[in-house]
Amino acid sequence: MTPPAITRTSTAEHYDAHVLKNYARAPLTLVRGRGAQVWDDAGNAYLDFTSGIAVSALGHCHPHWVAAIQRQAGELIHTSNLFRHPNQGELARRLVGYAGPGRVFFCNSGAEANEALLKLARLHGLKKAGEEGKCYKVICAQQAFHGRTFGGMSATPQEKIQKGFRPLVPGFAFGELNNLQSFADLVDDQTAAIFVETIQGEGGIHPCTPEFLLGLRQLCDRHNLLLMLDEVQCGIGRTGRFFAFEHAGVRADAIGMAKGLGGGFPIGAMWVGERCAELFQPGMHGTTFGGTPLACAAGLAVLDVLEREKLLARVQAQSPVWIDSLRRLAADFPAQVLGVRGLGYLVGLQMAADPAPFLAALRERGLLVPSAGGNVVRLLPPLTATADELARSVAIIRDALVAKA
Ligand SMILES: *Cc1c(COP(=O)(O)O)cnc(C)c1O
Repeated sequence: MTPPAITRTSTAEHYDAHVLKNYARAPLTLVRGRGAQVWDDAGNAYLDFTSGIAVSALGHCHPHWVAAIQRQAGELIHTSNLFRHPNQGELARRLVGYAGPGRVFFCNSGAEANEALLKLARLHGLKKAGEEGKCYKVICAQQAFHGRTFGGMSATPQEKIQKGFRPLVPGFAFGELNNLQSFADLVDDQTAAIFVETIQGEGGIHPCTPEFLLGLRQLCDRHNLLLMLDEVQCGIGRTGRFFAFEHAGVRADAIGMAKGLGGGFPIGAMWVGERCAELFQPGMHGTTFGGTPLACAAGLAVLDVLEREKLLARVQAQSPVWIDSLRRLAADFPAQVLGVRGLGYLVGLQMAADPAPFLAALRERGLLVPSAGGNVVRLLPPLTATADELARSVAIIRDALVAKA
């Protein structure tokens, strides 16, 4: 007996009947991708500026990346972390090259990278106080997003994310982003670390100013706190630098990465600077799947393409032109678009109202983009996007605004 064919209706029906209802999905089934384009099951093409939420850094199915995964899949996919594999060693070496002297722990997602950072903060607090449970607090930012695990969620002061899941992990306090004094006011003897996104993504594209980041660095140095930066969304080239904090010239003690690192293959990582890289000793943390030969092959292929195709320079060159045209567009529709924020290929349009109907209008015109908190339309082109594709996104947005005006 041949199995029944998978049809458009059956996919929608299977989702309706069998997939957990934790997402309000767009009514769209995607089946194929190439570069910045994806196709749905009716054969319609879309310009994909969702990039799987800042994940598909090289666009879809970049040939070098596909070949690297295919080659590794035929050789060795998984080993566990009980043994070494060349790919994990090599990816760690190359990430240390970007982040600075230190060590890397590999996991599978942003939330897991952040869990590792929060455990690092506890170990630092233990060393500081000399006793467990005395120094464990972490100061995060209002409107932050650090993931959906209990640690990540507890560091994420948003009602829509925490509601229904309390009690949360204790020991988090929240300062106002870009208000150094509000962070300084929260520091006490029990504080172990400060943890912020260099650019808030889910919260609505709110960048830390360079002065704020440098101020946090001084605050951390003064009180022996770790400065931990969540670069899960803004890292891996998205802003035109490998890490977004490089724009400020600040140095972190630890960094969380994921999303773009695997270019679509799940991988996350925590980098820890030399100063506290020895806090983790054998047995203190682990993961079955983290840093598999296959995941690290994907990560290495992303770095290869980033370097060979000079994607950082390309983002730096193309982004100001694109953002300028978005600003001009916003100025033409002041009642609908209140402003444009962001850096590189991490850009938000501040809309006057709930962007959901506008996202649908963009989708109908062939542009896929996600929203972000506070009525923001988020634009996340792949780092490989061409000037023509960037210009096309502006034309589609203009068309949708004209239709709405
Ligand atoms: C997406 C995101 C996370 C969570 O990553 P997952 O892979 O979904 O667990 C954490 N922090 C930031 C800044 C993110 O954008």
